[in-house]
Amino acid sequence: MIVGAGVSGLTVAYFLRRAGLGVTVLDTGDAPGGTMQTVIDGGWLVETGPNSALETTPLFGEMFDGLGIAGEQLYADPAADRRYILRDALLHPLPMSPAAFLTSSLWSVRGKLRLMKEPFVGRGAEEETVAQFVRRRLGEEFLDYAINPFVAGVYAGDPAALSVRAAFPKLYALEERYGGLVRGMVRGAGERRKRAEKAKDRARMFSFRAGMQTFPNALGRSLGDELRLKCTAASVERKTSPGGRPEFVVHYRRHGEPGSLEAPAAVLAVPAYIAESFVRPFSGSLAAALGRIFYPPVAEVFLGFPASAMGRPLDGFGFLIPAKEKRKILGTIWSSALFPGRAPAGHVALTTFVGGSRQPLLAGLDDGELAGTVVSELRSLMGVQGDPVYAKIIRWEKAIPQYGLGHLELVEEIRTLERNVPGLYLCGNYRGGIAVGDCLTSGEGLARRIAGEMRNQ
Ligand SMILES: Cc1cc2nc3c(=O)[nH]c(=O)nc-3n(C[C@H](O)[C@H](O)[C@H](O)COP(=O)(O)OP(=O)(O)OC[C@H]3O[C@@H](n4cnc5c(N)ncnc54)[C@H](O)[C@@H]3O)c2cc1C
Repeated sequence: MIVGAGVSGLTVAYFLRRAGLGVTVLDTGDAPGGTMQTVIDGGWLVETGPNSALETTPLFGEMFDGLGIAGEQLYADPAADRRYILRDALLHPLPMSPAAFLTSSLWSVRGKLRLMKEPFVGRGAEEETVAQFVRRRLGEEFLDYAINPFVAGVYAGDPAALSVRAAFPKLYALEERYGGLVRGMVRGAGERRKRAEKAKDRARMFSFRAGMQTFPNALGRSLGDELRLKCTAASVERKTSPGGRPEFVVHYRRHGEPGSLEAPAAVLAVPAYIAESFVRPFSGSLAAALGRIFYPPVAEVFLGFPASAMGRPLDGFGFLIPAKEKRKILGTIWSSALFPGRAPAGHVALTTFVGGSRQPLLAGLDDGELAGTVVSELRSLMGVQGDPVYAKIIRWEKAIPQYGLGHLELVEEIRTLERNVPGLYLCGNYRGGIAVGDCLTSGEGLARRIAGEMRNQ
């Protein structure tokens, strides 16, 4: 039994069924997908969570083929590789080649020279934040005008608060295993080729014709009646079956009515702040640690404009804003430039993120203030003219888990719980990575582990 039908829980369910095991999935929502939902309204297509995903693992293709949705997949326009970063109120393209790096206006000559020292920097001694690691290896300017906006784009986070080892394990491993980033990138590329994996900067970006929710919808359909929506789990209890085997009982409420479900194993695929209360009877200290994971609020402001209102070409993915630039938005995705069918003919769709760890209070502005703030920033940064003809605001009070210092100890504590309470498992984007591809890799790995343990019982 799985509690939570986000992409993590659904992936575990998919691979458990492939291993021949029966599985029931409960979710409090009225559709599968968790944060991954798509709203289609008139000619506008609004993503409530991920606007796209990176094809970092072959599991995507395997699952899309198995679910019969491979033909629905859309790859982003190749121009989407171009991303802009704001510096001194101007959008500068992020250089994608050594030649472009040398001529880029994004960093000063001094900043570029500092980057070239990277291969000669030694290893760090203790657990570092992303900011400490990048400052030490690459210098302050690269931290401010590359990593800071990147962390805002991925985690809606603050590099000074995230653990480099937990939040960017591949980056950290380049130093740990190879002694430096440049050296590691060269050697790591060869190793990835062998594993048929793709680096995040090489993987192709995709969505679906009808948006990202195509994927969880197909996963949900494949479960048939074994996906039980509008079921809010309230507690998890362990008892012993008449045959002496451990069993888990999940108590839930559906339309106000209590119900329960029993199974030999329970996978908690809910956010950490929900898992906290389910875990408390088994481990008070892990429950407290789960409750401490910070999920900053994010508001996603989707605005539609006539194409003629744009003050510049939408020739890329969009732009990200470094904290140093002191703006009121984190960045904007030029959604209609990435995939067709995101805006009615003659119009464009822009998705802007507000709040995050950097400015949590801004995410709480009321709808009018929020839309007004975004429009005024887009006017100033992109020369947008006039008012939007369409607006939709999606709010996440707890958006994305921040992997802070000590996060890996928490992950270790989860493993200890799973050893001490056989049959109870935790999964979700607070463990093993927040990107959709990470959730697939973690979910598939967990399903393999559960199938192995069930067979050995
Ligand atoms: C605004 C935003 C933008 C993002 N953009 C991207 C992106 O562009 N690319 C990318 O790769 N990733 C992106 N992500 C991250 C990615 O979408 C998530 O990490 C991933 O979808 C999380 O999946 P999950 O299943 O772990 O969690 P969730 O999607 O949170 O699923 C948890 C599920 O548990 C259910 N649940 C909660 N409580 C209960 C209960 N008591 N009983 C039963 N069910 C319950 C919820 O209804 C939900 O369905 C983004 C996330 C957000 C929020």
